[in-house]
Amino acid sequence: MPNGVLLVVSGPSGAGKGTLVGRLAERDDRVWVSVSATTRAPREGEREGVHYLFYTVEDFEDAIADDAFIEWARVHGNYYGTPVAPIYEHLEAGDVVILEIDVQGAFQVKERFPDAVLVFVTTPSMEELRSRLEGRGTDSEEAIETRLANAEGELSYIPRYDYVIENDDLEQATEELASVVESQVAH
Ligand code: ADP
Ligand code: 5GP
Repeated sequence: MPNGVLLVVSGPSGAGKGTLVGRLAERDDRVWVSVSATTRAPREGEREGVHYLFYTVEDFEDAIADDAFIEWARVHGNYYGTPVAPIYEHLEAGDVVILEIDVQGAFQVKERFPDAVLVFVTTPSMEELRSRLEGRGTDSEEAIETRLANAEGELSYIPRYDYVIENDDLEQATEELASVVESQVAH
């Protein structure tokens, strides 16, 4: 892998991946967070090119055929994928590249980049996960149930991850993610 560090962050929807990665990126300017493409509808406040690249199903399938993704998967009934070009650009620049992607995508990345480091973010309980999803207030009741139903399956992949961070106390979990990054930069 050229120069940079590639970190994959997975975990059930609502575990706090976005919050943790956002906090890390704020305090560490070596960090670059990949922007995924998706066919899901934008949530209120989500902006094109900032939170996601919002694709139609047709455009997404064309991009798959063009090999434009490092990995892609169907998650919670929609397509999600990581555009390949910016990843190489930022790795070549020596950045800490973070992909916030699901378990299927994580292992596709590991196959292509064996040095990639896989981090799994969890909550202390399923009740806490539900309460965060409800508290976030961005998903319909139906979308929340789909995310909770899929969480169990995602948790079963934990043994294949390099690090597990239980995001209970936000400050402590941020420190844990920062120290994973430090251990890789120092490598
Ligand atoms: P994900 O990106 O994994 O789907 P988010 O980062 O959107 O999850 O977090 C889901 C919700 O939980 C958000 O409302 C966020 O503010 C909240 N949250 C994140 N971390 C914690 C924490 N340690 N304690 C309590 N609430 C948290
Ligand atoms: P959300 O719809 O809540 O933003 O994301 C739902 C799930 O899709 C999360 O588990 C998230 O990690 C995953 N995801 C987001 N972007 C990608 C991506 O580019 N590839 C893959 N495989 N999963 C993604």
